[in-house]
Amino acid sequence: MDIQQRILELRSLLDRYAYEYYVLDHPSVPDSEYDQAYLELVKLEDEYPEYRDPNSITQRVGGVVLDAFEKVTHKQQMLSLSNAFSLEDLKAFDERVRNAVGKVSYVVELKMDGLAISLHYRNGRFIQAVTRGDGLVGEDVTNNVRTIGSIPMHIDYEGDLEVRGEVFMPKKSFEELNKKRVENGEEEFANPRNAAAGSIRQLDSSIAAQRKLDAYLYYFEDAYTRGVKTHEEALQTMSNLHLKVNPKRKLCNTIQEVWDFIQEMSEKRSSLPYEIDGMVIKVNDLSAWETLGTTVKAPRYAIAYKFPAEEVVTELLDIVVTVGRTGRITPNAVLTPVRVAGTTVSAAQLHNEDMIKEKDIRIHDAVVVRKAGDIIPEVVRPIIERRDGTQAVFQFPKTCPICGSTLVRFQDEAAHYCINQDCPARVVESIIHFACRDAMNIDTLGDKKVELFHQKGLLSSIEDIYRLKDHKDDIIQMEGFKDKSYQKLIDAIENSKQHPLEDLIYGLGIRQVGKKAAKILAKHFLTMEALMNASLEDLVGIKDIGEITAQSIMAFFKEPKNILLIDQLKVFGLCMETEKEEIQESMFTGKTVVLTGTLQHMTRNEAKAILESLGANVSGSVSKKTDYVIYGEAAGSKLTKAQSLGVATMDEEAFLQEVNVE
Ligand code: NAD
Repeated sequence: MDIQQRILELRSLLDRYAYEYYVLDHPSVPDSEYDQAYLELVKLEDEYPEYRDPNSITQRVGGVVLDAFEKVTHKQQMLSLSNAFSLEDLKAFDERVRNAVGKVSYVVELKMDGLAISLHYRNGRFIQAVTRGDGLVGEDVTNNVRTIGSIPMHIDYEGDLEVRGEVFMPKKSFEELNKKRVENGEEEFANPRNAAAGSIRQLDSSIAAQRKLDAYLYYFEDAYTRGVKTHEEALQTMSNLHLKVNPKRKLCNTIQEVWDFIQEMSEKRSSLPYEIDGMVIKVNDLSAWETLGTTVKAPRYAIAYKFPAEEVVTELLDIVVTVGRTGRITPNAVLTPVRVAGTTVSAAQLHNEDMIKEKDIRIHDAVVVRKAGDIIPEVVRPIIERRDGTQAVFQFPKTCPICGSTLVRFQDEAAHYCINQDCPARVVESIIHFACRDAMNIDTLGDKKVELFHQKGLLSSIEDIYRLKDHKDDIIQMEGFKDKSYQKLIDAIENSKQHPLEDLIYGLGIRQVGKKAAKILAKHFLTMEALMNASLEDLVGIKDIGEITAQSIMAFFKEPKNILLIDQLKVFGLCMETEKEEIQESMFTGKTVVLTGTLQHMTRNEAKAILESLGANVSGSVSKKTDYVIYGEAAGSKLTKAQSLGVATMDEEAFLQEVNVE
């Protein structure tokens, strides 16, 4: 394509994205897509200076000023920041800085994902708040900012003072807000940043007040001329004035130290109570700020390091369905491989038919992909504007792709099921589950081997695992097997017979019965037989076993095939009972306890085992019902939540003393 044409195309594309992002607070593409187009434009404008244009987005601070608010001209321009995406980019920044001002140290702050705000105080009174707008002129949002509890209306300062920072929406407020919006049939906000910007730009300040915004401040006007020497000192001065400054920051002497801190925070990122999209690195010495100055768009004494994108765009090539051990049919998106949050992703779960329909996801759509909870990739939405007529609506299959039996959708369930118990896919998955680490831990019997043995007719059911020893000749002839690996497999199978009852219960793959429920059931009934004979009332009577789980257990043990399976396993000598645990009475007996953070003296699992032996119920999430939260190093949102709910907390030392562990 002609270079000039491409430049014009990128400019108009970026202008549209900026409009959607800054004006509508409703971006159609993830930031990574914008950043990629932006970088391409910067590169082309660098290479072909003849096509430069002062109106290009690369020469302006992104935002716009809405007519709805009074316009205010900033005394000093509010800038954006240049971006770095790698250690190399940071090294290049460091080199530019050192070449200009010599040796420096840096203050590294979190890059809050909100919107920039300028606050004005006169003789200690808050008088005005202005958005960044286009950098030169912003919008007067004073009334809305007054509703933010963490912004002081009075400070101990004589004369005029401007401070700047970031207004953001904490994750919790964001979740609550979107939940309410769904209930009211309104569209959800794409992310906390857009929600914060949308809230600050409300004409009715009572709406902003309901949105529970927060703010961190990071800039003190004319600090240098007021005698402040360093940025760290400026932050400290603000903090002393009760202006809220983020304590999570670090003074670094080398770019390697900066990088290490970035890595540390990127690991902790998901446990922070707010969203950050990167880190900001600022030269500490304020006299260097004067020397380095700014470009039209950004200061030269600071740079924003952006975390690898968590949302990206890629093509959905196909949708294929898989059958799980319960017969559940899961549609999966086959994607053109793409990097998301540091790993390459080529498939994503689509959950069920309704989800595909609701989101209107079609084959060959350009789709936004994200890692949910930073681990499991998911398709967020299609980019409808990119459709070109080649997209096809996905027809959900009516029959099981493996055994051909008709799929069933139960009332009130979104998933389809293959209800043929002998469906080869279900059999294979249930054997894989039985042998998995959390169940019987037959580690030499992984997915591939189960599939292979199933194909060769050696494994048609769970109990066949214990008959593999009768097929030595067949097995050692298979590719990848020798006498030794065969023996290892048989030994692991033999060892599994001694596994505790709770692992066996979990391994059976009863619907709704996860690790925790299996443990509760084993502890309660002590023998498999007692569990099999339990009535619905017995089961529902157990704390933490609900009606649905109870019914699913009843249904499982009603099935003659399952009764036969247990009988067979008994004959093979599997452990079918457990001893009653002697519970030592302690302050934790009968209490619900949550562990969070990194413990120094033991793993969390060890602490959990101790607590359970003391009769505590160890839970993963904090609620009003939690009795204690025990925390280690770098405890995050769970500890904050406990404190806000008034739940008792205890550090590791106190816990160790309580349980008498040195
Ligand atoms: P930016 O967000 O990349 O960086 C500058 C801003 O960082 C500052 O103005 C300030 O508000 C903020 N910030 C947060 N913490 C800070 C701290 N500790 N110190 C200093 N500043 C801090 O720049 P921008 O111009 O606001 O926005 C551009 C970015 O917005 C793009 O890189 C892109 O990711 C996103 N964007 C996305 C779309 C889209 O369509 N998805 C469109 C436009 C812009």
